[in-house]
Amino acid sequence: MTRPYNFSAGPAAIPEEVLQQAAAEMLDWHGSGMSVMEMSHRGKEFISIYEQAEADLRELLAVPANFKILFMQGGGLAENAIVPLNLSRGESADFVVTGSWSDKSQKEAGKYCEVHIAASNKADGHTSLPAPASWQLSKAPRYVHLCSNETIHGVEFQELPDLKALGCDAPLVIDFSSHVASRPVDWSRVGMAFGGAQKNIGPAGLTLVVVREDLLGHALKACPSAFDYKLVADNQSMYNTPPTYGIYIAGLTFQWLKRQTEAGLSGVAAMEARNKAKADLLYGFIDQSQLYTNPVAPEGRSRMNVPFRLRDESLNDAFLAGAKARGLLQLKGHKSVGGMRASIYNAMPLAGVQALVDYLREFEKTKA
Ligand SMILES: *Cc1c(COP(=O)(O)O)cnc(C)c1O
Repeated sequence: MTRPYNFSAGPAAIPEEVLQQAAAEMLDWHGSGMSVMEMSHRGKEFISIYEQAEADLRELLAVPANFKILFMQGGGLAENAIVPLNLSRGESADFVVTGSWSDKSQKEAGKYCEVHIAASNKADGHTSLPAPASWQLSKAPRYVHLCSNETIHGVEFQELPDLKALGCDAPLVIDFSSHVASRPVDWSRVGMAFGGAQKNIGPAGLTLVVVREDLLGHALKACPSAFDYKLVADNQSMYNTPPTYGIYIAGLTFQWLKRQTEAGLSGVAAMEARNKAKADLLYGFIDQSQLYTNPVAPEGRSRMNVPFRLRDESLNDAFLAGAKARGLLQLKGHKSVGGMRASIYNAMPLAGVQALVDYLREFEKTKA
C-alpha cells in the first residue's frame, strides 16, 4: 500500500524508509534488547547513536571544525529567547524581518536586549526579500538575526548576506528550522544557526543548534543552565537529558540523506537539485494558471513552503476535500494567512509534487 502524500508544514513528512527502519528497530535496537526510548542517554548504545548522528550531520552540512553541534530541547520558539540569553550580553541585536517567524524572534529578543529592526518587508505583506544593501544595520549589534526560510509566508533567502561586506562584524544568526539540509549552508557567513527538527529532520522535540566556538561562554546570569550553549557543548549535549528518540530518528534521516543521489550529486547537494526541480514544477504550474496565485516575488520564493490561493475562495473547501480524497494531505494554509500551502520538504518526492500538480490542473478544469 502506498501512503498518501503529506504536505504538512510541520510536524511534517518523514522519509518512509526512516519510519520503516524505526518500526523494525522499535522493540530491540541492534540486539540490545531495548527500544531506543528505553536507553540511558549515557550508555554506550545511545552514545554510539548520538556520535553517528553528529558526525553524519557535520558531514552532510559541511560544518567546520570550529562550530559545535548541539542537540537541545525547546524548539525554534524557545531559541528566540535562548539566543539573546547567550549572545546579546544584555546589549543589542539587529533583526531582518521577512515574515511571521523573524517577527516573533525580534519580539521575544526584546525581553532580553535592545532590538533594532534593520530591514522589514512588512509593508508588502512579507512577500519580498529586502536587498542586503538596503539594510540599516546598527553600529555594534551583538548579532544580526534573520529567518532564512519563512515557513508561513514562503520567503527564502537564496543566498545568505555577507555581513562583513556590509561593514558589520557581528555574527549572523539564522533560523533555518524549515529548510535545514535542503541546501548547503555557507558557514563563512554564519555565526550560528538553529532549527526545530520537525520540518525537515525528524520529530518535534529536538532542536538543532550549530554555533561557532568563539560565541560560547557569554550567557547572561539569568540564562537557564540547560540552555547555556557553553554548558551544553562542554557536556556533549548531555548536561540534561537530550531528546534521545528525536536524535535517533534524525540520525536515521541523516543516513537516508547520505544515500540520496540526483544528477550525479549526493547528500544535501542532491536534495538541493531535487528540491529545485520540485519547486520549479509547482511554481511553474501556479504561475500559468487562471485559478491559483502565489504572492511572493520570484527571487524570494521558498523551495520548501509554497503558499497559494484560489482566486475564488468559495472553492476552498471543495479543493481540500478533493485533495484529501486523492491522498494529498494537509494542504490548508496557516491560519494567519489563509489560503493553501504545500510544504515540499526533503521527504516529499518529485512524484508527490507531480501528483499535486495533476490535481491542481484537474480541479481547475472542472471549475472553469
Ligand atoms: C516551526 C518554526 C519555528 C517554531 O518551532 P517550534 O518548534 O514550534 O518552537 C520557528 N521558526 C521557524 C522558521 C519555523 O518554521
